[in-house]
Amino acid sequence: MSDYMELLKKAGEFHGDICGGIVMGTKLAIHGMEHMGMTPGEKDKRLIVFTEIDRCISDAILSVTRTSLGKKSLKPMGYGKFAATFVNIDTGEAIRVVDVRANERDRDEDDDETVEELAERIANTPGEELFKIQKVSVKINPNDLPGKPLEVSRCNDCGEVIMDGKQHLQGGHAYCTSCYDKSYYELLE
Ligand SMILES: [Zn+2]
Ligand SMILES: [Zn+2]
Repeated sequence: MSDYMELLKKAGEFHGDICGGIVMGTKLAIHGMEHMGMTPGEKDKRLIVFTEIDRCISDAILSVTRTSLGKKSLKPMGYGKFAATFVNIDTGEAIRVVDVRANERDRDEDDDETVEELAERIANTPGEELFKIQKVSVKINPNDLPGKPLEVSRCNDCGEVIMDGKQHLQGGHAYCTSCYDKSYYELLE
């Protein structure tokens, strides 16, 4: 399990510290990649990962899987759930890995366990005992796959460029999400 400790250290460096989420996320990512027949810690062009929470665990998953937002291989879903889905875009095979411990936190939380002790315990626990694996099917829009841009357009309202087919069509014109729908920001002037 020295691989685990090495990958944990790297994930901790990326995240800023080794916390419980990094301990679990590292193990989850190793478990998921091994199930996919991939090598944890090594970049794999076939792999796309959907993370379901924007908390510590996802930083470890990013670090171990070597996926990235900029390469379109990491898809943060923001569901607030302790799970991630691993997709092989060559074969279509996909698994959703759920952190069972995080889902049982109200039942057995061992408050006395330090992060070091947790890491030691998790290193020596088989992934099967920690995670539930679901076979799933994931439809990925070709615009969301890694590679050269397929669609580029321009917003008829704000004039800004819209990549990757994210435009909305209305009356024969393209609009960005901010102009078409509601935006996460409000212009102050
Ligand atoms: Zn953390
Ligand atoms: Zn616009």
